[in-house]
This record gives sequence, structure tokens and C-alpha cells, in this order.
Amino acid sequence: MELKRILKVVMVILIFFVGVPFAAVALDGVIGDGTGFKGFDSLKGVSFANKIETPKNIEVKRCDSGKKVKVDFEEYVACVVASEMPATFETEALKAQSVAARTFAMSKIETKSPICDSTHCQVYKTEKELIDCHPEGWEDEGWQKVKKACKATAGELLYYDGELVLHPLFFSSSGGQTENSEDVFVSAVPYLISVSSPYEENATHRDEEKSFTVKEFASKVRKAFPEKAFGTISTDRIKILSRTAGGRVEKMKVGDETLKGTEVRSALGLSSALFTISFKEGTGWNGSSPSNTKIIFVSNGSGHGVGMSQYGADGMAREGEDYKEILKHYYSGTEIY
Ligand SMILES: [Zn+2]
Repeated sequence: MELKRILKVVMVILIFFVGVPFAAVALDGVIGDGTGFKGFDSLKGVSFANKIETPKNIEVKRCDSGKKVKVDFEEYVACVVASEMPATFETEALKAQSVAARTFAMSKIETKSPICDSTHCQVYKTEKELIDCHPEGWEDEGWQKVKKACKATAGELLYYDGELVLHPLFFSSSGGQTENSEDVFVSAVPYLISVSSPYEENATHRDEEKSFTVKEFASKVRKAFPEKAFGTISTDRIKILSRTAGGRVEKMKVGDETLKGTEVRSALGLSSALFTISFKEGTGWNGSSPSNTKIIFVSNGSGHGVGMSQYGADGMAREGEDYKEILKHYYSGTEIY
């Protein structure tokens, strides 16, 4: 391990003083396991001083036991990728996910924030837990594929403007367009801007329909926001007011109050805030009663919509794009090295 480190330092010096072509050949011959300085083109104009070395281990809090465990850093990355993305996804998508997961972990370390094993941070299951929750044979195929994809990007992180990316957010599927960070969370982040996500035909949660009677809808929003004074909630007082750059509902009128699309999404348990509403008059013996009228929500995509769409990444990989192209698409203006 120590020898490899020394070799790496020597190579960095060589790159500076002898030039890239020689170094590329030398690195292939000397290290050759896919680690280190792959993709020299992405180093253009970026100081080596900004390259962050990933640690050997990471401390992860297991939510169930409350205990902190020490895990080999790259093993942790592979376990997160296998927990967050199906191994059936394209290799380049798995590689993109590995860089995002590694960057997220590194951002926590750099900012001295604790990291847990749940969706609060990113999902981490141990190798054994992963094998136990997958069908037989996964260990020899899917798991090997994930580990190989992660190894191919070992040590690589996302940077913006020479600084480590602190918010490499990702989510399941976008429904066609991702979101500006400030439209979903509190603040704008230069690399988290709305981009198209055109190859999501394999995604789940497409045209997902959920319907509620007006009465059910009213009781759900009142329960979620007890501090708000909605007044009467009736069909003529429920309306989408505006949409974000990514097409999700920004503001919605509900009675006398205005809710954010994300608030409606969480109150109703919708898969995304990219939804339309329509009304359908109730049928049956009480069909004429307004309280029997239904509100139908049709949503597309799953998750918050900011950063990398996982199904979109898989679609781009199927279109022949590599992991760096995928990452640069969803995290605008970033570099990988
Ligand atoms: Zn956490």
C-alpha cells in the first residue's frame, strides 16, 4: 500500500515535469488497476492541489443499533451503490452512481458531519445484508458487477470550480426534467440546475394515479399542516397556481392557503411533485354530493428531482454515454478526477 502511494506521488511529479503522454503510459504499466489518475482530459486547468485523497476507512452510524462501525471506504462505496441502484442497471450508470456516492461520503467527511446508513444520508447495507436481501445468484453476478464498476472509478470524486462537490444529490426518476435546487430545497447550487432527462422509458412511477375524495384530501392536508387556516376546502378552491423550471408544482391553492408542491407531495404521499390534478364527480347513491367528488392526481417520476436521475443515468448509458458524460450532464459544470 505504502509503495503504491509513493509511486503515485512520483507519477504526479512526473506529470508535472515530463508531461501527460509519458505519465499515461507509465501509469498504465505501473498501477494499472484502474485507480488513480484516470481521464487526463478532465484535469485540464485544475490544480493538483485540489485533488482530495479519499481515506482508507469511513465511520458509519447504523440506525438500527445506533452503533458506529468502521468500514473500508471503497467497500462502503460499493455497498451504497448496491443499496441505491439495481445491479441490473448499465455499468456506466453504476459507475456514475459510485462517483456520486463516494463524493457524498467525502463531503460529509470534509465538513465533519456524521454519516448514517439510511436515506437521510445514503443507504448503506453490509455485503452480508445485501446478499441476504437479494435472490440467489446475485452474489456471483450483480454484486461482482457493482464491485467492478466501483473499482473502475476508485478514488474519483466530483468537483466544481476546483472544489469538492458538497451536494451530489440523486433520486430515482424525473419524469423528463430535473429541478433547480432552489425550487425544491432552500438555496441555489450552481451545479444543481434543471436539465432534461430524456431516456427514462424504463422508469417506474410513470403516470401514477392517486385519487382522493375532496373530504379525504382536506383531512390529509389539515392533518399535515395543523397550523394553517384553510377555511373551506372545496373543488373550486383547489388549484395549481405555478410550476417550477422543471415542471413540478411550485404553488397550489388549497382553500385560503397556498401550499408548495413539495408540501402537497408529502402530505398525500405522492411519488413526485410533477403532477396534474383533475376532478371527477362522484357516482353512486350519493353521487351528487360535492363531498363525494374525487381529485385525481397523476404524477410522473419518483423523488425530489434535484441532481442525478438514476433511471435517466441508466438510459443515458444505454444510449452509449459514459459515466463522466452522465455525471457532467446531471451535475452541470462539474469535473471528475
Ligand atoms: Zn444521515
